[in-house]
Amino acid sequence: MIELKNVSKSYRTDTIETLALQNLNLSVPAGEFLSIMGPSGCGKSTLLNIMGLIDEPSTGSVILADQEITNYNGTQIAKFRNEQLGFIFQSFHLINDLSVVDNVELPLLYRNISGKERRRMALEALAHVTLSNRAGHFPNQLSGGQKQRVAIARAIVGQPNIILADEPTGNLDSRMGDEIMDILLRLNAELGTTIVMVTHDDRMARKTHRLIRLSDGERVS
Ligand code: ADP
Ligand code: ADP
Repeated sequence: MIELKNVSKSYRTDTIETLALQNLNLSVPAGEFLSIMGPSGCGKSTLLNIMGLIDEPSTGSVILADQEITNYNGTQIAKFRNEQLGFIFQSFHLINDLSVVDNVELPLLYRNISGKERRRMALEALAHVTLSNRAGHFPNQLSGGQKQRVAIARAIVGQPNIILADEPTGNLDSRMGDEIMDILLRLNAELGTTIVMVTHDDRMARKTHRLIRLSDGERVS
């Protein structure tokens, strides 16, 4: 489902070059729930951004859903990202002046789907995270755990094959973190969604199928 071959990424600022990822090889089969751990600055976000087509590798290739993405142009990348990928962030990234259901509909706006159908799909996604009774609320009226559930609904509304989660439980207490993990585990088990999650929490990582570790831009396990 996700294949990275000899991926390296360097960032250049004036005279300093930082090698954020070095010769990384990684294959994530369809349906896997993978965790990525490692100290701050080891390249986890860079790796997730490359998998999410937010950032390009300096060298190496990225294959997602059997497509050699490295050859895609900008339009093709935007379409692929919108249709196949769902994103979840530590800080939720909800739009505060849109209602919960309008936030969840956002990824569908770029598709040719009627307003009525968008609403139906958004309400269905909210039902998946047991938040149907908050559809008309605004993000500021929700707890952190509820905000993250809205973000998960937004990530799944377009039925992506892959979900990329950057420390999804990082801003939550352990009870709410467990609740979010349970939802992700259920999505993975019931819908077969491939999930790649960056986490600092060993306890969360142990609930997933596999854990890889990065150190200084290299895979160490
Ligand atoms: P992590 O997510 O594990 O904390 P990152 O992927 O954010 O690590 O960063 C890996 C390395 O690349 C770090 O040394 C970081 O300073 C550097 N880096 C990340 N993004 C940039 C950027 N846009 N410009 C320059 N250096 C960057
Ligand atoms: P943090 O770990 O500081 O909370 P985030 O998880 O908010 O960082 O963001 C991680 C990366 O995802 C950043 O490089 C950011 O530019 C990118 N990003 C943030 N929001 C979006 C979005 N809506 N769509 C695509 N990429 C995003």
